[in-house]
Amino acid sequence: MAVLVCGGAGYIGSHMVDELLKKGEEPIVVDNLRTGHKKAVPAAVRFYQEDIRDSGAMDKIFTENDIEAVIHFAACSLVGESMEKPLLYLNNNVYGMQVLLETMVKHGVDKIVFSSSAATYGEPQSIPIRETDPTEPTNPYGESKLIMEKMMKWVCLKHGVRYVSLRYFNVAGASEDGHIGEDHKPESHLVPIILQVPLKKREAITIYGQDYPTEDGTCVRDYVHVADLADAHMKAINYLRAGGNSDIFNLGSGNGFSVKEMIDAARKATGEDIPVISGQRRSGDPARLVASSEKAEKVLKWKAKYTDMESIIKTAWKWHKNHPNGFCK
Ligand code: UDP
Repeated sequence: MAVLVCGGAGYIGSHMVDELLKKGEEPIVVDNLRTGHKKAVPAAVRFYQEDIRDSGAMDKIFTENDIEAVIHFAACSLVGESMEKPLLYLNNNVYGMQVLLETMVKHGVDKIVFSSSAATYGEPQSIPIRETDPTEPTNPYGESKLIMEKMMKWVCLKHGVRYVSLRYFNVAGASEDGHIGEDHKPESHLVPIILQVPLKKREAITIYGQDYPTEDGTCVRDYVHVADLADAHMKAINYLRAGGNSDIFNLGSGNGFSVKEMIDAARKATGEDIPVISGQRRSGDPARLVASSEKAEKVLKWKAKYTDMESIIKTAWKWHKNHPNGFCK
């Protein structure tokens, strides 16, 4: 039986497909390629270029394949863009989830692992953030992910579709062998932007604010390796297969690193000098976001293997150095 990966041509989705293949599973990918890359999906994997909001196309995919479970990454994911285009985020993310769940119910598929986000919490009230903490998103992106979680909750209650929602913190890194990695255009994430300096694509990295109430004044985040995330999704699928109840888990490495510490780690990983420019705070950036992943550790038996930033950045560097234009030639 197959595992349908919605958004399997994207950054995290393509690493998930890789992990499923390594574990001898049969992944099938549906992706509209709005931000994903066809080249990120191995040629041997069945691929549908379709939008999950297209119920006719989804019905066809579920009819043509013997789908056991779904892993759902197909969503818009930029905080800033979501503030500009809230209706895009509600339509793509929330309506996309509706069509997906309707199709799952219609075809009797009863397991879904969902790519959620730390953005569901909003401004944290305490650190580390636990799953029981209040969820008060401060942007439409986080709100859309929270609504999607609630949709799954009610559909589970009525139709028995069990779910695991994984709230990630800051994802970084690339596959160890360097054949897939992060490729967003435009890029907005810290690690690939830092690496654009040694790639000679920018002269310096701008630090957004150095006056935060943290040890060195720069924002602290919990960076988790993309391969560790893929491992967590695999464990979540197996948890549901074993009859586990619907639940929500944070995924982080449990350690906070500042922007300055990340730049230092990148200097070590690349052996290059990386000049910095002092910039303004970026609006909406909380000073510190660090996950408690205790629950995932206890219930899913998951723990991040990559906990040192230099090793995470080394994998990203291998990908970027060998693919300076990402998946484009
Ligand atoms: N950041 C920065 N310069 C950049 C990009 C990001 O200083 O060019 C900071 C940003 O303010 C945040 C951290 O790096 O504190 C991580 O940002 P990213 O956009 O990667 O992830 P986010 O925390 O927004 O999900």
